[in-house]
Amino acid sequence: MKAIANGKFNLSLYVTGVVGGMHLLDGVMHSVSLGDELIVEESDRVRVTMLGAECPTERNTAYRAAILVRDRYGLSLDISIAKHIPVGGGMGGSSADAAGVLACAERMLAGRGVNADLSDIAAAVGSDVSFMMRGGCARVRGTGGDVTALPPMEFDALAIDCGAVDTAACYRTFDELALPFSSPTEGELLSPFNALRPAAERLNGRLRDCAETAKRLGVAVSMTGSGGCMFVISPPAGTADAFREAGFRCFPVRSAACGVVFV
Ligand code: ATP
Repeated sequence: MKAIANGKFNLSLYVTGVVGGMHLLDGVMHSVSLGDELIVEESDRVRVTMLGAECPTERNTAYRAAILVRDRYGLSLDISIAKHIPVGGGMGGSSADAAGVLACAERMLAGRGVNADLSDIAAAVGSDVSFMMRGGCARVRGTGGDVTALPPMEFDALAIDCGAVDTAACYRTFDELALPFSSPTEGELLSPFNALRPAAERLNGRLRDCAETAKRLGVAVSMTGSGGCMFVISPPAGTADAFREAGFRCFPVRSAACGVVFV
């Protein structure tokens, strides 16, 4: 079975509080057409091969999802991943891979007449996995399990890779800087905002360079997740070339209506 596991942009991201050491978020996520390619086959044991990025197998979210599926349903999967989503980019690449594995498992189990509900496994593997399994556009609240679908949008965009930001370090820096908690009004949900941006900029100076390039070009950039990818919605012609000339890796993308696409 082959699938594309799409990445996402956080169109808005608010940190509303902390409970038990977990930061609570509110905001809107949208799937985009930059995805990892997955080949998932039934096997005698769980195996993950990843091309284009390194990660110890036991920590790989795709592996962790597959182990939970095996333990519950006795279905072992051999998974190959070709990485395209920038690692540590805030585009949810590791969550996308887990969602892709779970969506494939759901299909395989349905083929055996098993109507599997993998939502608790999704929530256990990572905070964005619940959203990624369905994808499209959604308001995501709390620690990621509270997903309210919204009508998908249509847009072209440019993802700009400023280099990885470690998610845990970004939240630690958010706390150290004592950045304020805030909640969006309904009207603010679709306006670009990312409460983690000052923290991510402390950790990765290229985010500021990217913002300066954007200012020079007269385009608005937003940051996705905990960084380090920025994005421009509806980029004018020549925007990608200008960012590439300034030394950034760029990916033209479109909005996507689904998180996982079977191919
Ligand atoms: P988020 O936006 O959810 O915070 P991110 O997009 O910033 O995440 P990812 O690329 O999803 O970052 O994850 C980066 C970290 O997760 C790396 O440290 C990597 O070792 C680990 N990881 C685990 N599984 C995967 C995977 N399938 N693909 C890439 N990284 C993975």
